[in-house]
Amino acid sequence: MRAMLLRRPKSIDERPLELVELQRPHPGPGEILIAVSACGVCHTDLHVCEGELPPHKSPVVPGHQIVGRVAELGVGVTEHALGDRVGVPWLHWTDGTCRYCRRGDENLCDNATFTGWDVDGGYAEFAVAPAAFSYPLHEKLSDLAAAPLLCAGIIGYRSLWLSGLVPWGHGREAAGGPAGAGAAAGRRLGLYGFGAAAHICLQIARYWGAEVFAFTRDEKHRRLARELGAAWAGAADEPPGGDPETKLDAAIIFAPAGELVIDALKVLDKGGTVAMGGIYSSPVPPIDYPLIYRERVIRSVTNSTRHDAAELLRLAAAIPIATETQVFPLEQANDALIALKHDGIRGAAVLQVTS
Ligand SMILES: [Zn+2]
Ligand SMILES: [Zn+2]
Repeated sequence: MRAMLLRRPKSIDERPLELVELQRPHPGPGEILIAVSACGVCHTDLHVCEGELPPHKSPVVPGHQIVGRVAELGVGVTEHALGDRVGVPWLHWTDGTCRYCRRGDENLCDNATFTGWDVDGGYAEFAVAPAAFSYPLHEKLSDLAAAPLLCAGIIGYRSLWLSGLVPWGHGREAAGGPAGAGAAAGRRLGLYGFGAAAHICLQIARYWGAEVFAFTRDEKHRRLARELGAAWAGAADEPPGGDPETKLDAAIIFAPAGELVIDALKVLDKGGTVAMGGIYSSPVPPIDYPLIYRERVIRSVTNSTRHDAAELLRLAAAIPIATETQVFPLEQANDALIALKHDGIRGAAVLQVTS
């Protein structure tokens, strides 16, 4: 099978991914083989390729937003049938037994493994994944449109919850399902960095009734934010809507730049939360205490659970979420990542593996 292989991390501008011919993998017990049709390109892939995330497996095939059809069933698989269309996200496997898993926080599992980091991912014609960590996809979602939901969408969704945008008293099930429209009515959300995750996050927040402000330096990203219903789009050091009196109830930082935390805190209302949605960030600068006093919260968002994935995919079909994609053929994975690094992607980049 054709695959884009990372032998050694280096700057993406040096094109570290190499087109190679690999043996088609076989599914072990409880696993499925997937004939990949599309794979989303995520900032995390960039961190894997450039070495900000140290290699867990080397060489490795990156890619953790896999859409394809089940081509072979491992022993004991009951969740899916041959030919079913499935999606595979970043969370590859959890042990189910550590204290985090036992209390329902499998995103924090001590022994979790990740697609395209610990095991080969979807920048290839075939990939293997545990059946229990692969998700059926609603027929409303095309392969290319579904791919960005599998990481950008899921992490955006979890970030929304952890930002406290939906206030206490609204149950997660109620707001997470199709009945969640209006759950955040009148609340103000700031999104810092406007890439794949933010453009999906914005659509959910709008569906929940929130007013959304997009902070991004690139005019093309500002335009997309406005098209998708942002009330305003501007620079990170501007007040929301250009009005110094306007405060945010919640903010999510998607760009890997720690200094944005300070920008967000300056316009955050009392009791508000700044959630950091990335797996990697440059250092957060020292914070003057008045910026966090009055019960403001800074928190990170780490991975996601199967529950997050299932809820997001259900919500995506119900709203429905429209993903904006820029499509590259598999062999142009380096080009997709170069464009991503240099703010050149409108919405989400997706590799078309087979059509
Ligand atoms: Zn665990
Ligand atoms: Zn990702």
